[in-house]
Amino acid sequence: MYEIPPEEINGVSGDTGDSSNWQLPKKISVVDSKGENTFNLQYAFLELFKPTIENAIAIRRKEIDVEKKKERLHVILDFSFLKTYMEKGSLVMQVLKCPECGATIEFPKSGSQTTCSHCGKIIYAQDIFEKVKSLLE
Ligand SMILES: [Zn+2]
Repeated sequence: MYEIPPEEINGVSGDTGDSSNWQLPKKISVVDSKGENTFNLQYAFLELFKPTIENAIAIRRKEIDVEKKKERLHVILDFSFLKTYMEKGSLVMQVLKCPECGATIEFPKSGSQTTCSHCGKIIYAQDIFEKVKSLLE
């Protein structure tokens, strides 16, 4: 038996059927990231098979979304982590620029957030991290 992770399925196609020919073998193709997988199925045809697959994909995608959200909540980044991370990527940042008013803010030594002394905007280490990450990748 062949197993394909539902989240990797890009499409399902195959022989259609109805009550008159449902017991005959049918070809069903499942396309995933690696290519097409063809199965010979008996007592099944596209109209029966497709909703089952699509349902499995929808459930799996929802699960993945939930997992991703959990991951993000668990990561509470602080500025000392950020500094170490940037140093590894040879990026030196002495100051931050406020995204709201453009004022210069000294790069905090610790804590997960800082406040702009000019406009009061809260700046999160997490948000700076997201920006830095895309620069270093
Ligand atoms: Zn500001």
